[in-house]
Amino acid sequence: MKRGLFIAFEGIDGSGKSTQIWKLAKHISQINKYNDVYISRNPWKDLNIRKILQADNDTYSQAMQLAQLFTKDRKEQMRTIIAPNICKGCHVISDRFAFSTFGYQQTQGIPLWKLLDMHKGLPIPDIIFLIDVPAKIVIKRMKTDKQKRSGKHKFEKNKKFLEKLRENYLKLASLNKHHVIVVDGTKSITEIFEKQIKPEFDKFYNSFYSK
Ligand code: ADP
Repeated sequence: MKRGLFIAFEGIDGSGKSTQIWKLAKHISQINKYNDVYISRNPWKDLNIRKILQADNDTYSQAMQLAQLFTKDRKEQMRTIIAPNICKGCHVISDRFAFSTFGYQQTQGIPLWKLLDMHKGLPIPDIIFLIDVPAKIVIKRMKTDKQKRSGKHKFEKNKKFLEKLRENYLKLASLNKHHVIVVDGTKSITEIFEKQIKPEFDKFYNSFYSK
């Protein structure tokens, strides 16, 4: 039996990650009735991270502390959930993974090399879908989505920060062309899935399991 695939979704909050994750999970389970899918997210179990994110509105505070907590939480998520499921042949989709720390904490001011160093030994997802949406569009979506969200946190309101974050995400993608697929998140939900995510996923899936 071959291992399962590890897929991560990345992008600014409100870019449409969770919307597309559910569509992909459904698709994977429909490709083959023996396919199992496990959905997980970052932050995973560390409740302190959410507290810090909501504690203050200063976009640039607590950068190193967040980088450390996220990395520790992610390593635990890999050890406890991701690796065992993949080994059993289950496909795992994570709503955010290491790229989020490379993007957010780099934008907060921590050098990328330090963040990469902290993640040494952690596997890279087979596919990273980066949903790219301009800051002004996500800010608008978050406003209309307010009641569904548990509360604003430090990164959601700062347009300048979100624009720089988007730039950093795209730079990371250009350095990792082998793993990252940049998706145009300004299209409709159906179009994004049918024309961008599904074909790329199917191509990878078919080549991985035909070998
Ligand atoms: P994320 O998980 O990245 O925070 P969500 O999937 O929760 O984003 O989407 C945020 C909001 O934007 C939701 O109200 C969702 O219905 C809406 N949305 C998602 N994708 C699109 C899209 N392509 N076009 C317009 N609205 C979208």
